[in-house]
Amino acid sequence: LRRRTLSIEEMERGVRENNRTVLGQAITLVESNAWKHQEKAQELIQRLLPHTGTSIRIGITGVPGAGKSTFIEAFGTMLCEMGHRVAVLAVDPSSTLTGGSILGDKTRMEQLIQQPNAFVRPSPSGGALGGVNRRTRETMLLCEAAGYDVILVETVGVGQSEGMVRDMVDFFLLLSLTGAGDELQGMKRGILELADAILINKADGENKLRALQTVSLYGQMSHLFQPATDGWDVYVGICSALYKEGLREFWNIIRQFSELTRASGAFGKRRNAQKRDWLYASIREQLELRFFSNPLMKEQLPLVEQNVAAGHQTVTSAVMRLMKQYEAGKVQDS
Ligand code: GDP
Repeated sequence: LRRRTLSIEEMERGVRENNRTVLGQAITLVESNAWKHQEKAQELIQRLLPHTGTSIRIGITGVPGAGKSTFIEAFGTMLCEMGHRVAVLAVDPSSTLTGGSILGDKTRMEQLIQQPNAFVRPSPSGGALGGVNRRTRETMLLCEAAGYDVILVETVGVGQSEGMVRDMVDFFLLLSLTGAGDELQGMKRGILELADAILINKADGENKLRALQTVSLYGQMSHLFQPATDGWDVYVGICSALYKEGLREFWNIIRQFSELTRASGAFGKRRNAQKRDWLYASIREQLELRFFSNPLMKEQLPLVEQNVAAGHQTVTSAVMRLMKQYEAGKVQDS
């Protein structure tokens, strides 16, 4: 098949008509680091902006093996059958290091990708976390403009990616397993405070009773945590992704959440705060990028490092001097 470059108008139309090939191409454009692609991508998003913001954005995390992909496949398929249009995106911190991706490596979600109302996109690989952040947010906008009304963002329960995904979604789900006592003691505690819901997965067969016990344990502890969303008590329940149990109940929870937080204003407030935070994060990222890619700074930094290490200069005075040189260099450039 001949693949020619589409014009912005053609891409705009294709995305709006939910032509999935065009949507895929638009996402590739957004993911590109090339300046020319960036400009085109930004113009496209700008045009599509009036049609964005229309979905409910749901983040899903959990340790590897918790059942995230099984859950997303079952939950997404159910929503498609209910008439929703579901886009699945992934944020995988390891892929930025290894170049792989969680959704891409394995041929998972086979059932979901058969659905005409589903769109599954593996995580963008390569680049810094900041780049993944931007690309995922902008991909989300493209999917919304294409008419997807539920966006599921999967992330692995390690590292900083959870906080990053929390900052781009309306609702955050922690998929957990039985034995929550240990988790509460450990580092998962920080993640619990991001969650609007905790589902104990694999609540089937002999495990169901233990799952219910875990739910009541979480219930007893929940007063210890600050709720992630104003006016919403963290929901704790069970499900079985494998046997497709508890999924409809979970969707009802999300609908309740959506109604309640929209009525209280918390929903819109969060979205605005997210945009503002993203704005400042992008500024910081750009400043950092420009500073470290500046030829003079590249030349000076190793020397400064040596000076500081040898005790010839304090860190603060070294930085102040570098900043002066950097600012002066910029004036010369322009
Ligand atoms: P992920 O790493 O979090 O994406 O987890 P997967 O979805 O790949 O699931 C890990 C394993 O747990 C697989 O073998 C699944 O079949 C199994 N699994 C997932 N959900 C359930 C469930 O609800 N019940 C049971 N019994 N097994 C499950």
